[in-house]
Amino acid sequence: MQHAFAQPAGPVGYVAIEQPFGVEPPVVHCPICGHAQSVLEGDEYLQTPCAHLAFVFGGEEDEFIYASEDFAARFARFDAALQARFPDAESQNSDAFEEASRFYRDLFPTRLAEMGYGSQLLALRITYGGMADGAPVWFSDVYGFDYATLQEPPR
Ligand SMILES: [Zn+2]
Repeated sequence: MQHAFAQPAGPVGYVAIEQPFGVEPPVVHCPICGHAQSVLEGDEYLQTPCAHLAFVFGGEEDEFIYASEDFAARFARFDAALQARFPDAESQNSDAFEEASRFYRDLFPTRLAEMGYGSQLLALRITYGGMADGAPVWFSDVYGFDYATLQEPPR
């Protein structure tokens, strides 16, 4: 997919938000169109992504749980470049591989920049905590909204 933003004008918009302990994470709505990105059905949240959602990283799952076609293609290119740099098990055991491959905390916007994202992307990192088996646990979900998906208004 070709974007009008071939050269990002600035860094990825990456905002880290921390909720009060014990509060359920909110249903995230798109900042562009206002669409809810999930709906509660029974006791399960179903994904209802709009066209502007690039990805969702699930903290509890510790992986991307939604990827747009464009994001999936960018991730595949990123992963292929990573495999080329670290081709074998030995090199993938290194600290350098850890540093180059992780999406942990502050590395997240770095990874997004490596995928070619810039100021057209707004990533919201929402951290929430609660009790699980008598111990406090915290998770961070990250939602990415891509303003480059905005279409020209019809003439
Ligand atoms: Zn939207």
